[in-house]
Amino acid sequence: GTAPLTSVAEVDTHCPYCALQCGMTLRATPERVEVRPRQFPTNRGGLCQKGWTAAELLDHPDRLTTPLVRDRPTGQLRPASWDEALDRVTDSVTALQAAHGRDSVAVFGGGGLTNEKAYALGKFARVALRTRQIDYNGRFCMSSAAAAGNRAFGVDRGLPFPLADLARADTLLLVGANVAETMPPLVRYLVEQKQRGGTLIVIDPRATATARQATLHLQPMPGTDLAVANALLHIALAEGWIDREYVEDRTAGFDAVRRSVAGYWPAQVERLSGVPVADLEAAARALGTAGTAIILTARGAEQHTKGVDTVTAFINLALALGLPGRPGSGYGCLTGQGNGQGGREHGQKADQLPGYRRIDDPAARAHVAGVWGVRPDDLPGPGLSAYELLDSIGSPEGPRALLVFGSNPVVSAPRAGRIQRRLADLDLLVVADFVLSETAAMADVVLPTAQWAEEDGTMTNLEGRVLRRRALRPPPTGVRTDLAVIAELARRLGATRPVDADADADGPRFPDDPRLVFDELRRASAGGIADYAGVTWERIDAENGLFWPCPAPERPDTPRLFTATFPTLDGRARFVPVEHRPAAEEVCPDYPLYLTTGRVLAQYQSGAQTRRIAPLRTAAPNAFLELHPDLAQRLGVVDGDEVRISSRRGEMRAPARLSDTIRADTVFAPFHWAGAARANSLTNDALDPTSRMPEFKICAVRVERA
Ligand code: SF4
Repeated sequence: GTAPLTSVAEVDTHCPYCALQCGMTLRATPERVEVRPRQFPTNRGGLCQKGWTAAELLDHPDRLTTPLVRDRPTGQLRPASWDEALDRVTDSVTALQAAHGRDSVAVFGGGGLTNEKAYALGKFARVALRTRQIDYNGRFCMSSAAAAGNRAFGVDRGLPFPLADLARADTLLLVGANVAETMPPLVRYLVEQKQRGGTLIVIDPRATATARQATLHLQPMPGTDLAVANALLHIALAEGWIDREYVEDRTAGFDAVRRSVAGYWPAQVERLSGVPVADLEAAARALGTAGTAIILTARGAEQHTKGVDTVTAFINLALALGLPGRPGSGYGCLTGQGNGQGGREHGQKADQLPGYRRIDDPAARAHVAGVWGVRPDDLPGPGLSAYELLDSIGSPEGPRALLVFGSNPVVSAPRAGRIQRRLADLDLLVVADFVLSETAAMADVVLPTAQWAEEDGTMTNLEGRVLRRRALRPPPTGVRTDLAVIAELARRLGATRPVDADADADGPRFPDDPRLVFDELRRASAGGIADYAGVTWERIDAENGLFWPCPAPERPDTPRLFTATFPTLDGRARFVPVEHRPAAEEVCPDYPLYLTTGRVLAQYQSGAQTRRIAPLRTAAPNAFLELHPDLAQRLGVVDGDEVRISSRRGEMRAPARLSDTIRADTVFAPFHWAGAARANSLTNDALDPTSRMPEFKICAVRVERA
């Protein structure tokens, strides 16, 4: 029942890429689609290079406009009709499930999908496929901060306060966050904070573009952030900077944390992390004596086997200083992917149902089953986390078919060579995407889907603010929206009530109209932690987006959480004692250097989109290995030399880029490239025991001239 989209000349929307979701206006001219920055509270009229050039993919020659199927005799992908492609999918899925059970078919989603798509995909997996195997690439992104936030505060919302608070903080601590490259418009807040006389502290093993703007840069050895946080709390305790009243009134469990940080003597932590005692003391003082202070973590702190505990250590520090819930103060996580936040709220995660409900909670199952028109007992239980799901392919219990929406795990998964081999073992790989990504190139069926400017929907940004994405024009001929693909697959699988059934008939529905999906999402989320019941498209338009929870149309939204209580059973935040432990892989004579990975300004995630955009390719044409000149000299490498980087899991080749902004025991590679330049060939697939986050940020490598 979708009203056909017609083109409009101009539309206000948001950038397709990162979680800042900068406001932009798209304008259709006879030659091209123009992007103009738009005043919005998060970007205040700014855009980065990626946003400016986002429309170049719309009419790109690489754009897929017809389904592809792998020809059985030749093994090549060839164009096919939608009917043939969808028949191939549903025939294979039906046969595999009949022979090997429901869980033999798995779904892999993405943190860039709109809320409506994330919701529809979770429902499709549980209701149409009735598989428990669904997870998404956000598991590789923010899952550690999410788990730590839930444990401490009873809720996970990236920033529990509006972004504008950053400018009001007397002291701002960024841990493992390089916003100057990943979210450049956010730097405006840092500049404003500095102009107001604020102190910016950055903890990062590299002197990144962000760290170079800091008042104080702590440059620890990778994998030692937790110890640094505990040392900061140790010093704050010794100096009497703890907010006793806040700890007493609003938290539980402080004594155990006080005892555990007692052992983190600054001199010991200096030996472990390389951060001088004087810097630890200066950072603790700046935080402990500030009127307002904000602590933010990002992937640098989180993508570790101790990611949850590392974030917890910084949350402990924030709680001890009495920060969460006070204006201009608090703890937050800088979510990365465009809808990393919404993507984890609506049920495409292995352990969750919409509304951020737990899938093993009987009340949650009953509520969601009611909205979906199925029986609670028919809903499957929790499935495997993203990496475990991919890695279980080929095992007797593992999936034999995988449906991928909006993700490119061949480039973005850790230990990517192994994951690529696993995908090759599948009986059926289906990829819905708008270009032939590295994962799509391996698929048996490729379904060409619409881009961000071609469909309506909502996104939830890093602040938990729900935004409208608006269509400028319909998808090109031959292309369908993800929602239409999901709806049609559900229909062909016999999971949806007939379209001609009367309006009150029972049974699940899979509408392809984003507004109908959103209305259903609101009902499914009602009463949950991420409650969207009061969020309407009209209110989003009128109020510059709405912050969840927003439980009813006549009730206000919630820009700031924790002002009076925390959403825990007793209303108190939880301190949790956490201890430093080594990384899963330490350096040794064969692999004597630490590798850490990250992003560059002109590329985004797996690069499937941004590597195809000419100005971005010019700005950042290829991968590189950043290393310190002293290390380069020891290795006999000069700037620009091709080097081979090896870990226990694989190899990468890239030109050397010498820089004294990195520690001499650590090398850095960006992860946006594929093939021989794929950094994730090297990364470690060891997982955090709680979040199941892989240890992307540290592994042991050897570097040689190629
Ligand atoms: Fe887009 Fe993020 Fe750049 Fe803003 S900062 S323009 S949202 S990529």
